[in-house]
Amino acid sequence: MKALEEKIVKQGTCIGSEVLKVDTFINHGIDTKFLDDMGKEIARIFAGDEPTKILTAEASGIAIAVAAANHLNYIPVVFAKKNKPNTMGLDVYESSAKSFTKGSIFTLRVTKELISKDDRILIVDDFLAHGQAALALYDIATQAGAKVVGCTAVIEKKYQGGSERVRKLGVHVQSLAVIEKMEDGKITFE
Ligand code: 5GP
Repeated sequence: MKALEEKIVKQGTCIGSEVLKVDTFINHGIDTKFLDDMGKEIARIFAGDEPTKILTAEASGIAIAVAAANHLNYIPVVFAKKNKPNTMGLDVYESSAKSFTKGSIFTLRVTKELISKDDRILIVDDFLAHGQAALALYDIATQAGAKVVGCTAVIEKKYQGGSERVRKLGVHVQSLAVIEKMEDGKITFE
């Protein structure tokens, strides 16, 4: 998505070669019109995979997941929780992953009643880096017996290998902006 690449170049900040800060339009502040445009583009890419539900992780995945769902006939969105509130029962699917930005292990949890074996799941997140979050979401979906039909992120850092790991599972993976490398503050897109 050309407009996204331009926005990343204008507003993004590289933190070394591994982390990109995009707090002005995805991760802290949200550009709502642009969010809607991105949701529309995700819907265009994945409509043919006929997803019935979007699965994401709190917190930064939620906005883009809802934007995409709105353009996929308002299919439901489920966001995996990182904390276990008192209101969450014991009947949960859970999967652990290593946080890329925090370096710690976190557990994602989804109440069992929210995903069924008949669901065709589209995984949506803000970033696809090493693939830990996406693989944990894939694990949760498959525990429910659902089929994962697609996986996307606003920004994919291809060189960190996550997209390849998910693609190997037979999933259609396509992100809106794919970064080949970040070097000396310069971003190269695929
Ligand atoms: P992965 O699990 O694929 O290694 O990393 C994906 C998760 O880590 C995303 O949910 C995202 O929140 C976070 N993340 C990964 N890389 C970046 C990055 O460059 N910038 C920001 N802001 N978050 C990232």
